[in-house]
Amino acid sequence: MTDTTLMSIPGQIDPVPVARDITPRADGRVDLIGLPKDRIRDLFEEAGLDARQAKLRAKQVFHWLYHRGVTDFEAMTDIAKTMRPWLTERFVIGRPEVVEAQHSTDGTRKWLLKTADGHEFEMVFIPDADRGTLCVSSQVGCTLNCRFCHTGTMKLVRNLTPGEIVGQVMLARDALGEWPKGNMKFDYGADLDEIEESSEYRSDGRLLTNIVMMGMGEPLYNFDNVKGALKLVMDGEGLALSKRRITLSTSGVVPMMEKCGEEIGVNLAVSLHAVTKEIRDEIVPLNKKYGIEELLEACAAYPGASNARRITFEYVMLKDKNDSDEHARELVRLLKQYNLPAKVNLIPFNPWPGAQYDTSTPERVRSFSNIVFEGGISAPVRTPRGRDIDAACGQLKTAAEKKSRAQRDREAAEAVQA
Ligand code: SAH
Ligand code: SF4
Repeated sequence: MTDTTLMSIPGQIDPVPVARDITPRADGRVDLIGLPKDRIRDLFEEAGLDARQAKLRAKQVFHWLYHRGVTDFEAMTDIAKTMRPWLTERFVIGRPEVVEAQHSTDGTRKWLLKTADGHEFEMVFIPDADRGTLCVSSQVGCTLNCRFCHTGTMKLVRNLTPGEIVGQVMLARDALGEWPKGNMKFDYGADLDEIEESSEYRSDGRLLTNIVMMGMGEPLYNFDNVKGALKLVMDGEGLALSKRRITLSTSGVVPMMEKCGEEIGVNLAVSLHAVTKEIRDEIVPLNKKYGIEELLEACAAYPGASNARRITFEYVMLKDKNDSDEHARELVRLLKQYNLPAKVNLIPFNPWPGAQYDTSTPERVRSFSNIVFEGGISAPVRTPRGRDIDAACGQLKTAAEKKSRAQRDREAAEAVQA
C-alpha cells in the first residue's frame, strides 16, 4: 500500500488537504493516469529519453491511455517492442480499485472504489433511453454539511487527485466495454510504420455519453484537480467528450464560479434548494458565507451561460420545509429578477438512515413544478434512480468515519467564519 502525503493549499479560500499530483508508489513506479501530455513528456525526459523521443512517445502513450483505455504498455502496438519493457519498468497505468459493484433493479450501477492509500469513494452510472450519465465524485467526504445530504455526514478525508477523478470515467468505460476498438489512423509521422495491425476504428454507439460532477464532495473546493481531470476528459486526443455533455454541480462556492466557467467551461448546476435566507442558512450552511443574492449574481455572470446553455438550479423537495406554493413563486421571481437563463431540476428528497427530513408528497411536488412552469421556466421532476442500492442523489456515503451532530455544527460554523 502506498502513502499519500497531504499538504495544505496556501492561501486557498477554504483550506482543505490536497494530495500531490503524483502519488508515490511503494514499487517506485509512477502512475501515469491523471497526468497531462506535457507532464508525461517531462517524466520520459527525466527517465532518459532525448527531447524528440520524449515528445513523440508522450503523444503516443497519451493516446493509448486516454483514448484507447489500455492498461498495459505491451498493448501499445505502435510503440517499438524494445521500448515497451522500458516503460513497464518505470511506469504503471492505474485504475481505482473496485471494492464492490452493485446493480439496481432500474439499471443504475454503483461502484464502491478505493484509492491506493485506502480511502473509499463511490461513482454511479445512470442509463437512460437516450443517454448514459456517469456521476463522478471529487472528494472523499465533504466539508459542507448540507443537512439533507448523506455525504455531508462524513468527515472530509481528502481531495481526490486528477487521476482518481478521471480514473472513474476510465473505469466506467472499462466496465461498459466501450473503448474504441482497432487501430485509429493517427499520424505519428516517422513511427507510423511500427504499427503492427490495422483494423477499423470505432468510437460510435457509446453508453457513457454524459458526465455530472455530482458524486461525493464539492468540486469547487477541489478546483485544480477537477480541472485537470476534466481537461483530460474533454481533450479530443483523450477521452474526447464535449464540454456540453459535462455538468459541474456546486453548492454555491461563489468565488470559484467565474474561474470554473472561464477555465473549465462546462455546464453549471447550482444547488439552490431554498429561496429565503433563513431556510437556506439552515439546509445549506455555506449560505451563511455566500448568500442567495451573491450566488445568483455569480450565476448571472457565469461565462458561457445563455438561453442555449442554461444554468440548472437544483431544488431538493423537503416536506414542509421549502416546498410551498409561495416558495415556488419566489423562486420564479428571483430567477427573473437576475435575468437568468435557467432551468430548475426538482429532486425529490432521497431518504437515508438518520435524516431529519421527509420527501414532499407527489401532489406538492406537482403543484410546485406547475407554478415554476407557468412562470416560463422549465421545472422537470427528477425521477430518483438507484434508491434500492443507495445510489440516488445525496445517498452516497462510504464507511469513512462519521461526524457527530455537534461536530458537524461546529465545522459548519467554522466554515462560515473562515
Ligand atoms: N457538492 C455538490 C455536488 C454533489 S451533490 C453540490 O452540492 O451541488 C449532487 C446533488 O444532490 C446536489 O444538488 C445535492 O444538493 C443533491 N442532494 C444531496 N442530498 C440529497 C438527498 N438526500 N436527496 C436528494 N438530493 C440530494
Ligand atoms: Fe457536500 Fe454537496 Fe452534500 Fe452539500 S450536498 S454536503 S456540498 S456533497
